[in-house]
Parts: sequence; C-alpha cells; structure tokens
Amino acid sequence: MNHRTRAVLTAALLLATPAGATPTVVDGLAPQAQDGWTTPLWRAVHGPDDALMEARFEAELAAVEQAEDAEADVQDDEAAEDTTTPVVDPEKPAAVSIGSPNGGWLVYPARLQGHPHIKSRARSNYGTDETVQAIAAAVDAVERRHPGGHPLVVGDISRRQGGPFRPHKSHQSGRDADIGYYLVDGAPDGLKRATPRTLDVARTWTFLESLLADDKVEYVFTDRRLERALYRYAKEKAKVPAEVLDRVFSYPHANKTGILRHLRGHADHLHVRFRSPQAIAAATAYVREHGLAAIRPLPVYRKVRRGDTLTGLARRHKTSIKNLCRWNRISRKKVLHPGMKLIVGHRRPRLPEPDAS
Ligand SMILES: [Zn+2]
Repeated sequence: MNHRTRAVLTAALLLATPAGATPTVVDGLAPQAQDGWTTPLWRAVHGPDDALMEARFEAELAAVEQAEDAEADVQDDEAAEDTTTPVVDPEKPAAVSIGSPNGGWLVYPARLQGHPHIKSRARSNYGTDETVQAIAAAVDAVERRHPGGHPLVVGDISRRQGGPFRPHKSHQSGRDADIGYYLVDGAPDGLKRATPRTLDVARTWTFLESLLADDKVEYVFTDRRLERALYRYAKEKAKVPAEVLDRVFSYPHANKTGILRHLRGHADHLHVRFRSPQAIAAATAYVREHGLAAIRPLPVYRKVRRGDTLTGLARRHKTSIKNLCRWNRISRKKVLHPGMKLIVGHRRPRLPEPDAS
C-alpha cells in the first residue's frame, strides 16, 4: 500500500471509530505495518512486536480456529474436486488484501491451482491476484527456458479468507508465499531441504528473475548458502549486470539487505513477500462498499466463573490484563463476579462476498 492509500484508509477508519470503542484491526495495524518496513527484518515474519496486537490475534485465533477448520474442510472438499479452474478466473472480483500480512484478511482470493507445473496445498493456496499470477508466470518462465523440470512445490500462501494461520506470523493477507526450491535430485513431494549441491540453480534463478521483474516482490527470505550459489550463477553464468546483483542480493556483503535475504529456517523454502498494490488499494473500495463494520473484528465473550481473575483470564486467553481492561472498559482493580460477561479476544468478521447471502 502506498503512503497515500494507507493514509486515506487509516483516516477513514479512525474517523469511523467512535471515541473509546475498540479500535478496528486496520486502524491499529496501519502504523504497525508501516513500522515494519523500517525495523529489523525478522519482525516481518515474526509478527508485530507490539504485545497488544500479538495478543489480540492470538486470542482471535484461539477462538476461531476450530470453527474455521471445520468450515474449511467442507469448502476444500468441494474445491479439491475442481482442478480445472484456471489460475486466472475472469469471473472473480479483484482480490482485496485487508490490514497487514501479520494481521489481516483476504477477500475474493485468487487460487494457485490447475497449473500443470505447480503442486500447491488445497487449503492454503489462496492469495492476491498479484501473488498467484506472479508465481504462475515465474513457473511458466522456467518451463520456457528449461523445459522438463519437476513441478514446483508451493507451500502455504494464505487460507481462504486469510487471517491468523499457525505456525506462521504472516501469511494473513494473501501476500506471502512459501515456495520450494527446484532440485536436481528428483521431484520433491513437499518442501524439501536444498543444499548448494542439490539446488537446481538454473531453474531457481530463472524463477526468481521472473518474480523480481517489475518490482512485484518486496523481499525473499532464503538461506545464505543457497543465496551464494544463486549469486554465483547469476553473476557468472547468467551475466546479470553488477547493479542488478547489488540490488537483488545481500551476498557477499555482511550487513546489507538486498531483496534476497538470509533467514534461518529457509533452506527448504523461499518465503516471498509480494507487494500486491492493487489488492491493497482495493481495501479502500471494499470498506466504502460494505462499511467499516464488515471488517471490524468481532468480540469473543466469556462468562466469568467463580475464582476467575484478570490475571488468570489473560493467561488463559493469551492476552494481557491491559487488553482485558481496555476491551471491557474496566480498571485493573475491578472485582470480577461470576456471571459477568467479558470480552477476552476478537475474531475475524464474516467478510461479505458475492456468493454469501
Ligand atoms: Zn513463510
């Protein structure tokens, strides 16, 4: 989201939030997400370091996880049979990416399915149109330049309507994808650990080169040893110009961040963050059409039982006493009586979709 779009959306949301009411996810996230670009990298995948936001989503997650999994099972069973849907579905409204990758949602998602050279996960292959199309185009580029390779394994992108997705911190708004490496030692079944020896450097570089064109990608986490192999290939075999190498790679510099960055745990997949400007901009129109209430998180209530304390409730619902006080507009000293109803977290709203009545 560019600064202007974000500013407009934030202003709209702040104006529409009554004073003292629980702030929406989006207005809470806007400054948070903006900070994300200027603070250490790991924050982008490890989530906001604001304990408040963290706790809110933990609580939300705990509350909806079960219900959602049941719902997803039914939808996935229906969807799993449909392997003929093209990657680009002209009937679908443009995807909307709401909030941030670490605390957000996805509406009208595109699905990465039905592509002959991609193996994806039926339950988590939902993304923005930009994410899904970029991956498919990059795989096509690999197939054109080096035909006959194994299908690319794509791990989690987002769930159907996005939102919290364990064990990830991000992957919430359709803009993150875990993507396997092309390997020289046979077709992998899932995300498989690559080494400089087993990495199919030529195909993986071609894939990345396509992704990196047109500023579609914000960053890519990989493993330093694999990055080094890719760097050498790009420099020596692919004859990539020095200024491009410098922009794309962190290697060989110790303290530099190029688009490709080392992060522990990425020897078996690339974590790609897509920019998706159209899907982000679409959030403003979505809010205008459906109203702010449609994207506001729903409170999760709990009835106070004998012996409950704020400390105990905070621990149990993975939130803080501060949050409980703020959400319920009570003080820390409030004596809890059995039967009181307290807000202990928030869950995803039912995001309006054309087929939902
Ligand atoms: Zn990831």
